[in-house]
Amino acid sequence: MGGDEIKYVQEAFESNYIAPLGPQVDAFEREFIEKFKIRYAVALSSGTAAMHLALRVLGVGPGDEVLASSLTFIGSVTPVVFQGATPVFIDSDCVSWNMDTELLAEEIELCKKRGRLPKAVIPTDIYGQCADMDRILAVCSEHAIPVISDSAEALGATYKGRSAGTGAKAAVYSFNGNKIITTSGGGILASEDEKMISHARFLSQQARDPAPHYEHTQIGYNYRMSNIVAAIGRGQLKVIDDRVEARRNIFAYYQKALCNVSGVEFMPEASYGRSNRWLTIILITPEEFGADREEVRVALERHNIESRPVWKPMHLQPVFKGYRIRGGAVSEDLFHRGLCLPSGSAMTTGDIDRVISVIMDCHKKGRWKYRKR
Ligand SMILES: *Cc1c(COP(=O)(O)O)cnc(C)c1O
Repeated sequence: MGGDEIKYVQEAFESNYIAPLGPQVDAFEREFIEKFKIRYAVALSSGTAAMHLALRVLGVGPGDEVLASSLTFIGSVTPVVFQGATPVFIDSDCVSWNMDTELLAEEIELCKKRGRLPKAVIPTDIYGQCADMDRILAVCSEHAIPVISDSAEALGATYKGRSAGTGAKAAVYSFNGNKIITTSGGGILASEDEKMISHARFLSQQARDPAPHYEHTQIGYNYRMSNIVAAIGRGQLKVIDDRVEARRNIFAYYQKALCNVSGVEFMPEASYGRSNRWLTIILITPEEFGADREEVRVALERHNIESRPVWKPMHLQPVFKGYRIRGGAVSEDLFHRGLCLPSGSAMTTGDIDRVISVIMDCHKKGRWKYRKR
């Protein structure tokens, strides 16, 4: 927490607005759109809920296909299934680790030949690095396919100087506990399209028609952010720039220490933008490093240091067995070699040094194993 959160929570308590909705929610939405220069936003209970509402408002339904990044967190694509539609997965490129726009164009061509264009495209801004939105939009706008940016991990990142997610039909953000700023749980759906956001807002509050009694002509959801949670979010918005700086410094510190170690590579930063470096990720080539990603993870765990493999691609998930994938080798390689290192904004250089020393031990001890024959 940054410090001001408790002040806003106190305000919420004193006004006795311990309810969904209320002045903190309105203020959070207002401060969010001011900060990130997006015209309209609705605060919701999670990023997954935001994605669900976006797809629902676009009319995604049974029989539809939605193209999505394979390298992502599952909350990006479960809403496609909630709507009865089918996700089709697109591999990453090596430069940004985001949706490969060549593969996207090829898949859209295939869909066209089959006589059924995708109903939407969902690129994820992976690990806080923006997808190449202008190229994605160029491919999609030719066929008027709406793009929903999954920017859940990328708040505070920029693409050609603009906030992550801008330019898309709508963008999804998350304030889950693991994200760069958090409200303990929550999300936002943002867009330049006022109608889209007002429709999403309506659906997020059980689709109550205007009437003194409870009147419903549509099925809605209970997806609204609560006033208390929004109070935390207002405090967090004040520290987002500091958090991005902290995460970028952590990345730079790891990189300085490990960049000359053979068999270690860092997640690249695409030239078109500035990543928030939500997590610091390394790729480990075992033949050169002397140990594989899993050995390093287990070694860290033995020192009570948590690290995680890169997201397991959606096309490898048992629940999506048999779903279409275009490409796949890049995200599979990132999964097999990629390790997310501890990256919390509050880490001290002493903490980072501890992580580095365990990694270096693996390198030194393991070298013999993979020596080239
Ligand atoms: C966290 C995350 C989500 C889901 O957000 P929640 O608020 O946890 O529902 C969606 N997509 C990506 C890429 C995420 O990292």
